[in-house]
Amino acid sequence: MHLYLHIPFCKQACHYCDFHFSTNTSRSQEIVNAICKEIELQKDFLGTKNLETIYFGGGTPSLLSISQIEQIFSKIAQHFTIQPRAEITFECNPDDITIQRLTEWRNLGINRLSIGVQSFDENHLKFLNRAHSTSHSMQCISDAQKAGFDNLSIDLIYAIPSVSNEIWKLDLKKAFSFDVNHISSYCLTIEEKTVFGHRLKEKVMKPIDDDFASNQFDILLEEMSKNSFEQYEISNFAKNTAYAVHNTSYWQGDQYLGLGPSAHSFDGNKRFWNVSNNTKYLKAIAVNTVPNEFETLSQKDKANEYLMTGLRTKWGVDLGKLNKILPLSSKDFRETLMRFRKEELIREEKGILRLTKAGKLKADYVASEFFF
Ligand code: SF4
Repeated sequence: MHLYLHIPFCKQACHYCDFHFSTNTSRSQEIVNAICKEIELQKDFLGTKNLETIYFGGGTPSLLSISQIEQIFSKIAQHFTIQPRAEITFECNPDDITIQRLTEWRNLGINRLSIGVQSFDENHLKFLNRAHSTSHSMQCISDAQKAGFDNLSIDLIYAIPSVSNEIWKLDLKKAFSFDVNHISSYCLTIEEKTVFGHRLKEKVMKPIDDDFASNQFDILLEEMSKNSFEQYEISNFAKNTAYAVHNTSYWQGDQYLGLGPSAHSFDGNKRFWNVSNNTKYLKAIAVNTVPNEFETLSQKDKANEYLMTGLRTKWGVDLGKLNKILPLSSKDFRETLMRFRKEELIREEKGILRLTKAGKLKADYVASEFFF
């Protein structure tokens, strides 16, 4: 079983981000207390009590004090058994990282950090409205390594307007120089309810050009491969099979419990999502209810989800497994498959469908064309 905890606070709003968070951190202790209460309320959600992974995401978990993290861990330990080799990931921002905190996080059992570096260029960090500087990014990675974190992931964003291919290559070169074993790299997307979304609407910002983004994705794939990183998911790259176990569990359709405002859960048949509002979340938990909604997945939904996530990973889509979810008798499916094979967007090997390099550039489109 996998556990996700959403910590809904950030120091400031990055201009591209549409995750759920608040910059008013005054209620952080109330939220921590409520998450602990939700652990009690949801302890039987998946039946099993054994945790293979725990993931602190957000928002910014690194804004929590050590005593707050301790409080959450002790509540988890009260109701669940953390497997001895469980992956325990903590998302953190470079400006929150100090040697002392790193040591304390490690002492609490956190064994993997996901650091929101995004860029090593000062101007780009400002453009994105990140709270940290280039020197924070560089210092925190080496500090984390000194503190004994050998399972380290950094996030990088590409297709930032004005970032030339040369600068993008330099960003990647800098990332490789730290010898981390995992990199997640996302294309900048402009979401409606963000500062960039407003700028786009006001026509003071242009949409991200598709060719520009494709070129930078190509560079990303090329540089990753030159530096011995395996692309195991469209946006995720690992050295020596240091795959993110928690995230991989989502892509493989495992069950998980998500706690905190806006967190999602999956019990194998139903998807649940908690309210994306801190006040409403606190009010509901105060009267012992979990403020969530759910939808029951049909076999068709399950097949489509498997196509969407499976095609994005190196494991691809197993036609036998897909056929068990939903019999593949449809003529449309075969025709779509033939079309994409001809267009060299998909290849089929021993009953497994995988995207080609060209297909990876259009992953969501290819998957959606297969949808039942
Ligand atoms: S720190 Fe992360 S979660 Fe917070 S606004 Fe920035 S990108 Fe979003």
